Amino acid sequence: MSLHKLTLHELQQKFTAGEVSAAEIVRAYFLRINQVEPKVRAYVTTLKESAAADAGVLDEKLKSWRKTAPLMAMPLAVKDNICTDQVRTSCSSRMLEQFVPPYDATVMAKLRANGALLLGKTNLDEFAMGSSTENSAFGPSRNPWNLAHVPGGSSGGSAAAVAADECAAALGSDTGGSIRQPAAFCGVVGLKPTYGRLSRYGLVAFASSLDQIGPITKCVTDAALMMNVLAGHDERDSTSANVAVPDYLRALKKKDVKKLRFGVPREYFAEGLDPEVEQAVRAAIGEWKTLGGEIKEISLPRTDAAVATYYLIATAEASSNLARYDGVKYGLRSKQAVNLADMYLKTRQEGFGSEVKRRIMLGTYALSAGYYDAYYGKAQAVRTLIKQDFDAAFKEVDLIVTPVTPTPAFKLGEKLQDPLQMYLSDIYTISVNLAGLPAISVPCGFSAAGLPIGVQLIGRVFEEETILRAAHAYEQATDWRTKKAVVRA
Ligand code: GLN
Repeated sequence: MSLHKLTLHELQQKFTAGEVSAAEIVRAYFLRINQVEPKVRAYVTTLKESAAADAGVLDEKLKSWRKTAPLMAMPLAVKDNICTDQVRTSCSSRMLEQFVPPYDATVMAKLRANGALLLGKTNLDEFAMGSSTENSAFGPSRNPWNLAHVPGGSSGGSAAAVAADECAAALGSDTGGSIRQPAAFCGVVGLKPTYGRLSRYGLVAFASSLDQIGPITKCVTDAALMMNVLAGHDERDSTSANVAVPDYLRALKKKDVKKLRFGVPREYFAEGLDPEVEQAVRAAIGEWKTLGGEIKEISLPRTDAAVATYYLIATAEASSNLARYDGVKYGLRSKQAVNLADMYLKTRQEGFGSEVKRRIMLGTYALSAGYYDAYYGKAQAVRTLIKQDFDAAFKEVDLIVTPVTPTPAFKLGEKLQDPLQMYLSDIYTISVNLAGLPAISVPCGFSAAGLPIGVQLIGRVFEEETILRAAHAYEQATDWRTKKAVVRA
């Protein structure tokens, strides 16, 4: 079987058994990348030479070493808003097109320390603002299942790379759904961990109280494997939590969901939900019932306020975070300017795309003196109420099951002229970020047109184990994971 088709844990077993070398793995993956990347465009940077060199060093060392690190020789991709030492980190923005970080993000350092090989940096919506990768300054990525459709966003490059077998697993970031939504659109697994579970040190900030890094993988076992490496406290990130990290792979040993109570929030199955998506998600709920779960209808009454709340808080934080791109500290500096004020202005005019500008303006407005209480203050209050809805629900149930997206992947260009339509594609994912909860997207079927559909499981804070266990039980009971995208011109 071709190496690129294997899941991360299958490839790991092959490597540990001495059946393949790191150099062979890198060769096989770049062969695959050469084949499909001209169509999929998942990467903004590929690192063929350095990956091959790192693999060579690893193979050499292994003549005298034992293979112990869990990700040794594993070919991975990382979203291009996560800092990588000496490798450009562009955020798919003209502003950072030439930016080469002098350090690794903590998650990247952990991947390297565990032996992983970095194949490249993946495309995203500029500064992770968007749901389709169409806001990338370098052009969109494509959905490997149908190239006329978007892969989702903002981690669309990472999800497309995993779905097209251009890497064994990838990292994404999720501020309002950017791991889960592209995972659902591309038929792969995406886990957004609890806020604070992973270090955000070295993640280029979009909305700091919502951002979280997480894995995008071919199966649930691989997500658990990645979490074992990534999770944990980091003194460089003051919001990272000092909470013990369990062995996530062990959590998968239990293959049933007996005694688990699944809540189905009625507000998530209302107007706007595509019937094909609803049917697939309801069938998944039926499967959890068959596996021994208890299914309960619940209510999350403030669901309809989530999109508005999110787009006030996220834009407010973005306007503050993105103030640092002024042509002075790093990144682009306009060459057209006549004086300092003009340089600030022109740098930002030239460096940012229109969605980023829209959000900076919205956020600045929401934070301005006369409107702060009416908009930002109100949004913070509603955020607390949304969190309380979840707290109440989790007194009755252990997990919450919902759709990930209202529809399967839409066509390129379909929502570009209407930002509000684009924003609504996050309606089922953003509450989770507002409440700081962990959630996973797992494949649960296909539309008649052959596009993947995902189901979301939301858990209590720091209960990724429960999510992974239930997701794994479902995955093993169905055969969605065996279906692979065929990249056609
Ligand atoms: N699509 C959402 C937005 O545009 C979420 C983005 C994200 O999670 N990074 O803000």
